[in-house]
Amino acid sequence: MKEFRGTSLTDLALSGGGVLVTSWAVKADYHWDAGAAMSRYLDGFRDGKIWGVRCPECRRTMVPPRGFCELCFRPIDQWVELQDTGRINTFSISYVNWDASRRRTPEIPAVIEIDGASPGMSILHKMGEAGDTLEEIQARLRLGTPVQAVWKPRESREGSITDIEYFRPIG
Ligand SMILES: [Zn+2]
Repeated sequence: MKEFRGTSLTDLALSGGGVLVTSWAVKADYHWDAGAAMSRYLDGFRDGKIWGVRCPECRRTMVPPRGFCELCFRPIDQWVELQDTGRINTFSISYVNWDASRRRTPEIPAVIEIDGASPGMSILHKMGEAGDTLEEIQARLRLGTPVQAVWKPRESREGSITDIEYFRPIG
């Protein structure tokens, strides 16, 4: 095995002044341009509306909106106001937080097919009012269960997907 020349650093060298050490807090503010289609979609949440777009070629109504159809490669500029209701395409019952800590009551991420959009067109969100125990949740939620968005109060909305607090089962 080849030997590399040099001097290994020790903890004492780093903490005891043996080598030059500097530290600073990184301040990495940034702005992100959502683009024309996504910006109008996000602005719609302030008004409690979910916007989609319709392709002039294949006539699919898509959500989230996009600037061109990925099947026809046609530019899209026809906007369609969708319902704030839909059906569960799929969901998961999670007892683990993002930092791997355990949850007492589960989080329920769900893919929601939005009413007014073409079949299969859906957004990722989460379910609420679905029960606290596994038995309650399994009794209330199924694939295809109709759901409705629960919006934050208007004054709290900020043009974000989180302006919808969650979807709740209806009917
Ligand atoms: Zn198309």
